[in-house]
Amino acid sequence: MRIGVFGGTFDPIHVGHLVAAVNVRYALALDSVLLVVANEPWQKVGERAVTPARDRLALVEAAVDGVDGVEASSLEVDRGGVSYTADTVEQLVAAHQDAELFLVVGADVVGGLASWERLETVRTAVTLVVVNRPGAPTVELGEGGPLAGWRAVSIEMPALEISSTELRERVVDGRPLDFLVPDAAIRVIAERGLYAQER
Ligand code: ATP
Ligand code: MG
Repeated sequence: MRIGVFGGTFDPIHVGHLVAAVNVRYALALDSVLLVVANEPWQKVGERAVTPARDRLALVEAAVDGVDGVEASSLEVDRGGVSYTADTVEQLVAAHQDAELFLVVGADVVGGLASWERLETVRTAVTLVVVNRPGAPTVELGEGGPLAGWRAVSIEMPALEISSTELRERVVDGRPLDFLVPDAAIRVIAERGLYAQER
């Protein structure tokens, strides 16, 4: 088994996440890509109100329904507490002894890797997969770059200048999410009244 692990707050999920997942799965011939919804994203708590994890999980489940090989994972939500990728990776290694793990991150995340909890655990367990993201610098692989010591690959995807932050502002302003967020997830946002009363 070749498993992609794509963690995020997904507040909300958008087509940038999905295009990344689908293209990484194709490029690396992965059996599946897990969209792992952070329970408490330690980088974001305290900075802004994060939508309850169960709502963010419901958005991801709706968005991947019918998408081949891309799955919502409730691992971190079920575990509860602060979400560290090191714990998630350890759990997946234990559950899938013979699997090869590929940790997917956008280029904007690479600069912050040094601050991750138990980084060595992550580094030894995964191949890092970096996808390009508008506004983030191109990541140099190899010695001398920020990923020296990692098994790392970079996968090109169409540049999509979309962020959850901008999408939350759209809901507040009443601007459309259409074609930026899958329809099924837009329906969950509407049903649950998510994002509307921010600011
Ligand atoms: P926020 O604005 O709240 O930070 P976000 O759009 O960055 O939201 P996250 O949940 O923080 O979404 O991101 C999860 C993962 O998806 C990260 O690795 C991030 O780099 C990647 N990612 C998010 N949006 C894109 C995009 N448009 N293109 C490529 N990668 C992306
Ligand atoms: Mg982000």
